[in-house]
Amino acid sequence: MEFIILAEVFKKMEETSKRLELTKLLVDLFEKTPHELISKIVYLIQGKLRPDFEGIELGVGEKLAIKAISKSSGIPIKRIEEDYRKVGDLGHAASIVLEQKTQTTFVVEDITIERVYDTLYKIATLDGPRSQDMKMKYISSLLNDANPLEARFILKILLGILRLGIAENTVMDALAAAYTGTKENRALLEKAYNVSSDLGKVAEVTAKKGLDGIKTFQVTVFNPIRPMLAERVKSEKEAMEKMGNKFAAEYKLDGERAQIHVKSNAVKLFSRSLEDITRHYPDIVEKIPKNLKVNDAILEAEVVAINEDSGEYLPFQELMHRRRKYKIEKAVSEYPITVNFFDLLYLDGKSCLEVEYTKRREMLQKILSENEFAKLVPMTVVQNDNEIEDFLENSINSGCEGLMLKMLDASYKAGARGNSWLKLKREYKNELGDSIDLIVIGAFFGRGRRTGKYGTLLLASYDDQNDTFPSICKVGTGFTDEDLDQLYQLLQDKVTLKKNPRIDSEMEADVWLEPELVLEIMASEITLSPIHKTAMNAIRKNSGLALRFPKFTGKLRLEKTPEDASTTQEIIALYKGQRKVIQNQKQI
Ligand code: ATP
Repeated sequence: MEFIILAEVFKKMEETSKRLELTKLLVDLFEKTPHELISKIVYLIQGKLRPDFEGIELGVGEKLAIKAISKSSGIPIKRIEEDYRKVGDLGHAASIVLEQKTQTTFVVEDITIERVYDTLYKIATLDGPRSQDMKMKYISSLLNDANPLEARFILKILLGILRLGIAENTVMDALAAAYTGTKENRALLEKAYNVSSDLGKVAEVTAKKGLDGIKTFQVTVFNPIRPMLAERVKSEKEAMEKMGNKFAAEYKLDGERAQIHVKSNAVKLFSRSLEDITRHYPDIVEKIPKNLKVNDAILEAEVVAINEDSGEYLPFQELMHRRRKYKIEKAVSEYPITVNFFDLLYLDGKSCLEVEYTKRREMLQKILSENEFAKLVPMTVVQNDNEIEDFLENSINSGCEGLMLKMLDASYKAGARGNSWLKLKREYKNELGDSIDLIVIGAFFGRGRRTGKYGTLLLASYDDQNDTFPSICKVGTGFTDEDLDQLYQLLQDKVTLKKNPRIDSEMEADVWLEPELVLEIMASEITLSPIHKTAMNAIRKNSGLALRFPKFTGKLRLEKTPEDASTTQEIIALYKGQRKVIQNQKQI
């Protein structure tokens, strides 16, 4: 299939922000795509080559790309850099440059989707001393045969700046409509996606085998499962209203969630956002198989840094030292950990997702031999608010964040946040001191000491019903000078020319950012706002919700994707809870 077909669809997608239009463009594209190509197209649309957990990244820098453009067009590097500066996007600059090509070239080979994908894949997997030269050769050979529009999108994918604003949910809507005749079958596709975390594979099976194929998706070791998430509650009373009068309470440890896959003695670890984090934890890889009486299994645990002398849990930030690229062994001995198991998702050839909580916990207990390194998360069954309160107290005294409350007869709902798991943190009880996780969508340049950096950021919540990021506040306090430096660096490659279509904001920022980075924010209050778009019209007509006196807590939530940030529904619940408190206080 010719790449120009895809490039033209990409161009149209860049020009619209309406989800319905994007879905329609996708349906039309899928309908003309040969089945064996569908997975590749689904990855490319998301600017990827394979699912995230495989860790295949293109990693081509701007300098190399500019050299390759120069080589294939005969135009000097300086001029390309000038065009780049003018238009601010190297993909766009390449298409301008190629229009003015001085070299006459003849097309050696047609630009097909297969060729582009295979070449990009080769580039991503090249390694070794000559890899830069080889990368350049591959890129310039593609650019040599590409027309300006094709070159624009090839470069955007290569540089990781293809931003079409298409969410996974939109892809699933379009797949269901194109291959099963109706969008209503989306739920089945979502189920397959939840156990495979591979949208390309879901697309391929849907295209080739339809719904019968989709129903055969199974949990597989070394293929991460999308994690089950919890709703937050503010009080023991609210928990009992939601869960009845008998449920499990577990300590909520403050570490990194790890999905641990084991087969014989081979181990792989995936983070909460399903990134392969095996290399950060060689100690888990080495020790855990000895703690488990299994052939193969998928388990969930919270990895927590500890002080080995006192046995105390240390805060989550300590684990960030494990994220380094080199000298991992040094970090392993300097930052010891414990692995605290709380769930079992697969055991010896069988999925446990449909098994109820009590039974899963029993099985987990049976297969795990506990020691200093590997433990079961403390759990007790509670039946009234005093028992919850006591266990919460114990948990906080042991250095944990609070409690996870789990329904005894609930299955494991992969990829969902629901009422079968609740989280109760001590801070939630203190209504206005609550922290929330928000997405950075825009930035404003600083003045005075902050000149040359961003001084204020524009933040959004996640509206999971519309799959958008509505603005909620500007934040300029709580940042140290180091925070501002680090944020400026982190946000540099997220700058976009055009506001991402999923951003919903009336307020204009100096720069728009790709909605990716999640920050933890405290605020004094949630108020109605005519400007901010979070929960627009939900509480009052023509009003949204905004944070009053927001402040950065110092915590970057790098393990969270933007879809994991606080949702609009959560903000509405916090707003309503807060009003109750204010009213109660007034009555007193
Ligand atoms: P938070 O911001 O509160 O850590 P989250 O959005 O990362 O929450 P939630 O599902 O809302 O995820 O809360 C559960 C999180 O708490 C898990 O992702 C996990 O990392 C952590 N956790 C700690 N102890 C437990 C436990 N016993 N059971 C489940 N999750 C636990």
